[in-house]
Amino acid sequence: MPDHPTRRALWCLVALTGACTPTPPPDPTSRASGLIITNAIVMDGTGAPGRRVSVRVVGDRVAAIGNIQPQPADSVIDAGGLVLAPGFIDTHTHADGGLDDRPDALAVVSQGITTVIGGQDGGSPLPLSAYYAALEKQPAAVNVGMYVGHGSVRDSVMGADFKRAATPAEVARMGAIVENEMKAGAIGLSTGLEYDPGIYSDRAEVIELAKISARHGGRYISHIRSEDFAFWQAIDEIITIGREAKLPVQISHAKLAMRSLWGRADSLVRLLDAARASGVTITADIYPYLYWHSTLTVLFPKRDFENRAAAEFALTETSTPAGLLLGRYEPNPAYAGKTVAEISRLRGTDSITTLIDLIRESEAMRKTTGRSTQSVIGTSMVEPDVERIMRWPHTNLSTDGALAGPHPRGYGAFPRFLGVYVRERKVMALEEAVRRMTSLAAAHMGIRDRGRIAPGMFADLVLFDPATVADRATPQQPHLTSVGIARVWVNGQEVFANGTTTGARPGRTIRRGQ
Ligand SMILES: [Zn+2]
Repeated sequence: MPDHPTRRALWCLVALTGACTPTPPPDPTSRASGLIITNAIVMDGTGAPGRRVSVRVVGDRVAAIGNIQPQPADSVIDAGGLVLAPGFIDTHTHADGGLDDRPDALAVVSQGITTVIGGQDGGSPLPLSAYYAALEKQPAAVNVGMYVGHGSVRDSVMGADFKRAATPAEVARMGAIVENEMKAGAIGLSTGLEYDPGIYSDRAEVIELAKISARHGGRYISHIRSEDFAFWQAIDEIITIGREAKLPVQISHAKLAMRSLWGRADSLVRLLDAARASGVTITADIYPYLYWHSTLTVLFPKRDFENRAAAEFALTETSTPAGLLLGRYEPNPAYAGKTVAEISRLRGTDSITTLIDLIRESEAMRKTTGRSTQSVIGTSMVEPDVERIMRWPHTNLSTDGALAGPHPRGYGAFPRFLGVYVRERKVMALEEAVRRMTSLAAAHMGIRDRGRIAPGMFADLVLFDPATVADRATPQQPHLTSVGIARVWVNGQEVFANGTTTGARPGRTIRRGQ
């Protein structure tokens, strides 16, 4: 069958204006062999009610949706009444760092996630062009988009001498790198202002670099400067960055992680709504757990690791001795999986002394090995705040996970959201939950042709059972796959079925605006 001339001409005209992807959608009447998924409740990602219709996929794109008569060459899958949704988009992940070792990305695809956005918390591989090229040579099962990380850029300019504000000349050199990375397709600038070396930057430095992202039509995403003791100043800072650099800003893994902040999610939402009303496009992502995963040192924002008052604050306000579970501890690997309270009993020292000693020993080892030697899972949040932030209409989902990390979010975040928060607690309707994980996430990342099921969109799809979908991963067994995710396709190819990966690696790199 010949190409439809008018249709193609129109599409190309739209493409020339930059309003959409230059690839025309496949002709739904094409005789090219396709895949038809039938008998599914299709939730198309827009939040519209699910409909029992069929979806036809040709090549890497959705060709048609509706009542479709299979062509002789089509293969047909009976979805058995399960929900078919756009593949989920994870806007804050650390999976980007492990795809060379684990290209099948079981942790990711087993959650129904088909696109991951890396380069987070201020950390990205430099240059991104090399990272993208390697991934294009040896693709992964999932699509990957990347931010350029402020911390990595700062590190390459300031090296070991980072515990100070940057000079104007240094900021200019950082700017040149950011410029280059934006040209390579970075989605925007990411910061990790609670971590070294970003914590030593001032607002002016970050605004200057964010302006470069803005000039390229990019965005800003941030692990903000404080999630606890200086929380409100950190919120003010990200709003100011959005206002002054004139670009969309997103709070990564939004949380109120301190006892005296608990119950104040309403105040946060009011602030964010006011910022939006004043013209700042601020959004957020969240993961559905009451505990974070980071390093012990993050508990000391002033980096005064020997200060007993600071340690006491960490053990009463930020978390508790029983709420701090070591994920990794290289000076004594037997401590992994134990809480500070348990280690305190083992060592016969009070919890303040124990925390200070644990940091002293791991910092000494870090200095000799040159790498991070510990990690901790810290319980610091409460359910009402998590649910309130989740319900904010501008919040999408993220995992903040890794492909083989110690926090169960790496394997469980999205199914946990669907099982615990949507099915059990009814925080929002299922269609809305799907929208948060798909088209809203795509909009927050500036991704154009993913996140919805519609003709011409890439065929990233997940088939799941809303009645059974659930996470199984726990801090004790963080690598248990979830249940209820039946099948997952990326760019039209099946990557997950029958509880395991298929070995297909159809993932693409995603550059800004794609
Ligand atoms: Zn973070």
